[in-house]
Amino acid sequence: MISMKMQSAINDQINAELWSAYLYLAMSLDAEAKALRGVANWFFVQWLEEQDHARIFQEYLNSRGAKVVLKQIDSVPEEWDDPLAMFQAALEHEKVVSEMIDNLVRLAFRERDFATLSRLQWFVDEQVEEEENATDQVVDFAAAVGDAALLHRLDEKLAERKYSKASALK
Ligand code: MG
Repeated sequence: MISMKMQSAINDQINAELWSAYLYLAMSLDAEAKALRGVANWFFVQWLEEQDHARIFQEYLNSRGAKVVLKQIDSVPEEWDDPLAMFQAALEHEKVVSEMIDNLVRLAFRERDFATLSRLQWFVDEQVEEEENATDQVVDFAAAVGDAALLHRLDEKLAERKYSKASALK
């Protein structure tokens, strides 16, 4: 049995994951408008992955007989100065999401909710990857400030990123 408190916290997380999706879609569109095809692709894959994250929690609540509540998604920024600013904002955002996941883990511990703990473990691991991926891009794009040729090469590299469905999805 999943408690009302846990259900409510997971529903808040679903909203946060959908907001993340929305944020990365905005970044993808901004990059696309600035002819940064690879950066746009990288954030488009992020947008798909965040929707998977929301879906994993939805499937989990459904499987536990709990109700999914879809709440209003707040607006997101529309423009960033350059790819470096985007990736820095993405990294800061992922750090906040990691804190949110950690708080869910703390709640599941307090409630002795071992099924939810087990589900959350996937997200704990995923956040390590998310922070690492964003950090890699921050480092690369910091090196490309004022270097148009390097920026172009990095953009081409990111065009190769492909989406694959999250392993935790049914
Ligand atoms: Mg996420």
